[in-house]
Amino acid sequence: MWDFIFPKRCIGCGAFGSYFCFSCFRKIHFVTSGICPVCERASIYGVTHPVCLNKYSIDGLSSVAIYEGVMKIAIRKFKYKPYLSHLGEVLGLILANISHFSVPKGEWIVTAVPLHRHKEKERGFNQAEILGKVIGERLGYKFVPDILLRQKETKIQAKLSEEERKKNIAEAFVLNGKNHLLISEKSIIMVDDVWTTGATIRTCANVLKRGGVKRVWGLTLAR
Ligand SMILES: [Zn+2]
Ligand SMILES: [Zn+2]
Repeated sequence: MWDFIFPKRCIGCGAFGSYFCFSCFRKIHFVTSGICPVCERASIYGVTHPVCLNKYSIDGLSSVAIYEGVMKIAIRKFKYKPYLSHLGEVLGLILANISHFSVPKGEWIVTAVPLHRHKEKERGFNQAEILGKVIGERLGYKFVPDILLRQKETKIQAKLSEEERKKNIAEAFVLNGKNHLLISEKSIIMVDDVWTTGATIRTCANVLKRGGVKRVWGLTLAR
């Protein structure tokens, strides 16, 4: 029904038929080399440099595309226009197909960066959760959406100083007590749509590791 009211059009050029026509899909700038999620310098396979790693830091990061052009437009539409219902799944499939090669093997639990419940209610969905769900299904991992809770609404970051920004994010996430046993000694993939400064995912990793998680890997559609 939604396709009838909002027929699928290419995000890049507007051609009818699909969200990415062949030629616009080819323009997506896919990531070819990894970065260390702690210092953001080059790192093979996105593994955190041994010198950057401490007890509570994130272990690695995989991102599929550079946040520009058609991918940037797609992510923004996905976030703010929920009626493009299948777009999230299409993006999830792109993420699943490509990260299949870049997430280390093993048993993982997939989760997503949470939104504050007020924000989720306002938007009607959590975009990271939609991606996480597809990842879980496609890669055969258990998907648990509410491992972390966002306990305070993050203020608009742009208006804050560097110090305020760090504090604001550091206090934003807490473990959801009901999943404590489930995550103990486990490996977790933390999914989000975009890696910008990385502060959010690094903080999530920190909270998870303090809660007994063994390994945390970030996975984003773009960076
Ligand atoms: Zn196109
Ligand atoms: Zn590093």
